[in-house]
Amino acid sequence: MSDRDVVISARAVSKRFGTGPHAVHALDDVSVDIFQNEFFTMLGPSGCGKTTLLRLIGGFEQASDGEIALEGKALNDLPPFKRPINTVFQSYALFPHLTVRQNITFGLEMQNMPKDAANRRADEMLELVRLAQFGDRQPSQLSGGQQQRIALARALAPAPKVLLLDEPLSALDLKLRKEMQIELKRLQTETGITFVFVTHDQEEALAMSDRIAVMQAGKILQIGSPRKIYENPTHRFVADFIGDSNFLQGDILPDATTGIPASLALPGGQNVSLAGVIQNGSSSPTPAPARATIAIRPERIMLQPRTNSETALHGRIDDVVYFGTDTTYHISLDDQTRLLTRVQNRDGAAMPFARGDQVDVTLPAAAIRILVD
Ligand code: ATP
Repeated sequence: MSDRDVVISARAVSKRFGTGPHAVHALDDVSVDIFQNEFFTMLGPSGCGKTTLLRLIGGFEQASDGEIALEGKALNDLPPFKRPINTVFQSYALFPHLTVRQNITFGLEMQNMPKDAANRRADEMLELVRLAQFGDRQPSQLSGGQQQRIALARALAPAPKVLLLDEPLSALDLKLRKEMQIELKRLQTETGITFVFVTHDQEEALAMSDRIAVMQAGKILQIGSPRKIYENPTHRFVADFIGDSNFLQGDILPDATTGIPASLALPGGQNVSLAGVIQNGSSSPTPAPARATIAIRPERIMLQPRTNSETALHGRIDDVVYFGTDTTYHISLDDQTRLLTRVQNRDGAAMPFARGDQVDVTLPAAAIRILVD
């Protein structure tokens, strides 16, 4: 199997809970392909439907419409225990009265693996999660992070094709969570098993994933690598949910001959040039809408002391906030338009701007995104 083979595919999947006017549309026409050997993350705010999608893949819920397939075969009627798919939950759900090793062998023996082979497999798994010396302990004698590793070892032991992980790190403190992020990514790479991970934590998603599906209100808005999602968000929601973004709204002034967006007229009368801006990741220009929102990341904006430049926007520094590695400047371009910019601090250099300074603000075309609202 090559790395790009599809393992899980969801086609036009919807899920409703309840009926009539009180029905909850947890998933609305979701389609996605998840590949062999990838770390795939479903990211979105509480209630967006990510757990529901995971539960449908696991077989714990049935789709109202659409189909979920594993390696091309429909899964819809297959119960969870018959799917070559395992799940790790937020609560580790270890058996408290069994030793660590027995926790791992239990499922293997249920699948008729002989006891010796199951023990050998359990020891391999304990080695994999770096807890080889803990096999004879009870779960209660382990830390939260160690229990989480055992839960992972148990879920990986039968070598499932897919491992589903539902916010597995959210019970851990920040430092341990960061360590476990690296650990999870390592486990995924070493085993080659497809991981489908659910989180509402954007940093966690960026740090671990090969691809991220950003979800909102039962829909997948965008799927892509962490870099693509951060650098080329297609929707305002995506740009807002992942990292900091500035949003500027205004009227689009089209180019007189081509009709493509030439600039964005801000409420105060200044124009942001859109020459060379790629729309929605596509290099073929589309006709200009009447109004639009553009997004730009704070670190991509350039500031200079005020000159008489015709091309730069004119702004005033309203606030300066020092953050150690960088400084953020709050800038107003007019009464209604504010920008957040972030400048890296260099050793020993004085703070270049102070509150009240007049500045030239440049928004590089390569950093501007025209968004779908
Ligand atoms: P969270 O991060 O809070 O777990 P989520 O993105 O995983 O959120 P889901 O748990 O998938 O969201 O829920 C999606 C929607 O479906 C929510 O509005 C939720 O209240 C609803 N929902 C989920 N399960 C059920 C159920 N068994 N019965 C009724 N409504 C449900």
